[in-house]
Amino acid sequence: MSPMMQHYLEIKKQYSDYIVFYRLGDFYEMFFEDAKIVSKELELVLTGRDCGEDERAPMCGIPYHACDVYIGRLVEKGYKVVVCEQMETPAQAQGNIVRRDIVRIVTPGTLTDGKLLDESKNNYLCALNIYGLTAACAFCDISRAMIELTTVNGSDEDELFQSIINELSLFKPSEVIINAPGERVARLTDFLSQNEKCSITASAGEYFIPDQALIKNQFPDECFPEGFSISGTDGGACAAIIRYISETQKTSVPEITEICAYGSESFMSIDASTRRNLELCETLRTKERRGSLLWVLDKTKTSPGARLMRKFIEQPLVNCRAVQLRQGAVAEFFSHTILRDDVRAALSGAQDLERLFTKVQYGTSNARDLIAIKQTLSIFPKLEALLCDTSASELSSMYNSLRTELGEKLGALYDFIDRAITDDPPFLVREGGLIKKGFNSDVDELRSMVTESREYLSQIESQEKELTGIKGLKIGYTKVFGYYIEITKSNIPLVPDRYIRKQTLTNCERFITRELKDMESRILGANDKSIGLEYELYLSAVENVKSYADAIFSAAGILAKTDVYAALAEVALKNNYVCPEVDYSDLIELKNSRHPVVEKFTNDYFVPNDVSLDCGRNRTMIITGPNMAGKSTYMRQVALIVLMAQIGSFVPAEEARIGICDRLFTRIGASDDLSSGSSTFMVEMNEVAYILKHATKKSLIIYDEIGRGTSTYDGMSIARAVLEYTTGKKLGAKTMFATHYHELSELENSIDGVKNYNIAAKKRGDSVTFLRKIVRGSADDSYGIEVAQLAGVPAEVIRRARQILKKLEEENANTPVQKTEAVIPEISLFDSAKNILAEELKSIDVNTLTPIEAMGKLYELTKKAKEL
Ligand code: ADP
Repeated sequence: MSPMMQHYLEIKKQYSDYIVFYRLGDFYEMFFEDAKIVSKELELVLTGRDCGEDERAPMCGIPYHACDVYIGRLVEKGYKVVVCEQMETPAQAQGNIVRRDIVRIVTPGTLTDGKLLDESKNNYLCALNIYGLTAACAFCDISRAMIELTTVNGSDEDELFQSIINELSLFKPSEVIINAPGERVARLTDFLSQNEKCSITASAGEYFIPDQALIKNQFPDECFPEGFSISGTDGGACAAIIRYISETQKTSVPEITEICAYGSESFMSIDASTRRNLELCETLRTKERRGSLLWVLDKTKTSPGARLMRKFIEQPLVNCRAVQLRQGAVAEFFSHTILRDDVRAALSGAQDLERLFTKVQYGTSNARDLIAIKQTLSIFPKLEALLCDTSASELSSMYNSLRTELGEKLGALYDFIDRAITDDPPFLVREGGLIKKGFNSDVDELRSMVTESREYLSQIESQEKELTGIKGLKIGYTKVFGYYIEITKSNIPLVPDRYIRKQTLTNCERFITRELKDMESRILGANDKSIGLEYELYLSAVENVKSYADAIFSAAGILAKTDVYAALAEVALKNNYVCPEVDYSDLIELKNSRHPVVEKFTNDYFVPNDVSLDCGRNRTMIITGPNMAGKSTYMRQVALIVLMAQIGSFVPAEEARIGICDRLFTRIGASDDLSSGSSTFMVEMNEVAYILKHATKKSLIIYDEIGRGTSTYDGMSIARAVLEYTTGKKLGAKTMFATHYHELSELENSIDGVKNYNIAAKKRGDSVTFLRKIVRGSADDSYGIEVAQLAGVPAEVIRRARQILKKLEEENANTPVQKTEAVIPEISLFDSAKNILAEELKSIDVNTLTPIEAMGKLYELTKKAKEL
């Protein structure tokens, strides 16, 4: 192998799971497997290079100046890139191999360049520290200077896996580092690579080793969340985040100032499939934002606002007071149109303060970023003035901090940048022109030397024209030759002896004189000095800006919150929402409620509906009705309204009272998860199992069809047993249960708290009209054939279906079993009659029965036994 190739392989060995961009002249080249991957992903030509062996090494390359675009595209696809740069020119290397070194490491979770990031989303790096049946999950968006930490447990492998997935689907990290090797990682890796766009570094054990000194050095004031253990799994996860960011950003102490614990007690818990089913931030099928709740609510004006809105939706609160604080702010903007409009107008000029500042912190900013920060800072005095008369405590506390210390700091930072940096600085920071006049006297002096000398040059030009009599004489400049006097060929005979020839071109010749050379060294000297000094001043300005970290983060927080509150008010007003009464009661009472998203798509009128749920007599709604009647819409609308209320938003209803729910569960639809080897029915049952294990009395559960993926009796038995369990004393959660098993309506008579509802539809001749109105009682018909007809199933098939249905109905009408089912469905639902009787006998507590009750029970059991 050639020495260069040996060096390349050494680097590749160190960064085996990265794509190595290896600088060769004007190109970054990739070799071997990297070349194959990149040529495929970026559609580049795959060539080969002689590397000293028999076979040529596969190679592909990109021009060095366009590398950002290619890196961006690779990172977006989940790859990690290291850039290995030439540290000297071939001339400097004097025949030896050119010295090269790693100058940049780019990974999806540690990006600081705003251009490569989606501005409406936080970009998270996650460290998963799994030990036994416990996993510490640490998430960090590098631009927020904070680690968000939680610990999840499972009673077995499956439960632990599900809990981890729930956290991952909350933050949707773009990169995960995992400690443990083995099967667990394989399962997570499988899930992540199939479900999310995510880069995974598995078996990254060395990052996770707990280290007291590392953590204490990073957080000198040791202000840790309660129960945090530096040497435990949580300390290890935080250490991994710190080490990984240090490595990729090439800094010893990354700019992370806080570890913030979150857990089920702070937010409504929503599992991964419920998040997907409710289409909170993207639609289920197409994964688009349009059609999601976020799409309806996110009318923010700034990127930090958009990110916070997403976070609000992803993490609804469970603390009533906290919800009311947000509501207060929204209500104030809702009722004061001028205030809202003015605030929103002021915010529209804001740039992404957090991400601009991250560039400053990690040394990748330029002077234009400082100007963007300055422009955004100019908004705060306006905000302060606007928030001055607000009464909602969320808004007035923001006003108070802007009015006092924070406002002063922001003002001082604004003044500093305004004094130091020119208003329209160049993109590059090493070529001068960034420091404002008057900021530093040395720069001013050097600059005036340059300007004066330039004026003097034009004097020399006129003087030489006069002395030589050459009218076309002119003074010019090139980087290679410096200043010169240019004379056209026809005037060469007039050139005096003191001119020294430097260069011959086709039509002219270029000369220098002693005087010109002197002037040149004065100009270039002053210019170089001034550029160098400007760069130094820029770096110290950056250091100064960095020292305002706390103020900047607080300011960014105020900006984002104001933006979200004003946007929620705007949405509430435009869409005719009402402020819900939120408390710790068990109630969900909605009058004329609507689905926030579906109402945007219905061409004709969206029919509003009422809801009344509690933990007592109205604990469970069994909802029947034909397909397409609106059952799913109705149930999802209740779930979304509860969620909206708990993020502090107004809700689409005429009146709303909502008791805080701790968890939200949905079992909706079914899709085969073939990648994990699960059938539709298995997925369904997994979800049911999860709900039954995790729901509490304070939860809201939505079941949209249960037991459809198996035989009728099987399915109906499961559906009923699940419903009994959910409604029963042990759990007793608020439940909405849509089903086509009309037999389940019987439960209204046997279980207290169950109420039958149906979504009204009217049959007219052979067709059906959907009224979309929820009414008490069970539906009398499924109208399946009518819906099939509406969907365009051929008339011949519809006719035949009607014949078959009629026949089946006639047959069933004559079967006595059918009648029994309707009266005592629990018996006929099971295969083994003996088991049922045995179960029933076992459940009787003889000591609590009166003699009369005992007689009654005995009679009932013998009757059942005879019928079986
Ligand atoms: P189901 O679950 O009963 O099969 P869906 O909830 O899927 O029915 O509703 C079918 C369609 O009916 C929805 O896509 C929507 O367009 C419309 N729809 C549902 N509820 C309403 C309503 N309250 N007002 C107007 N249109 C509705």
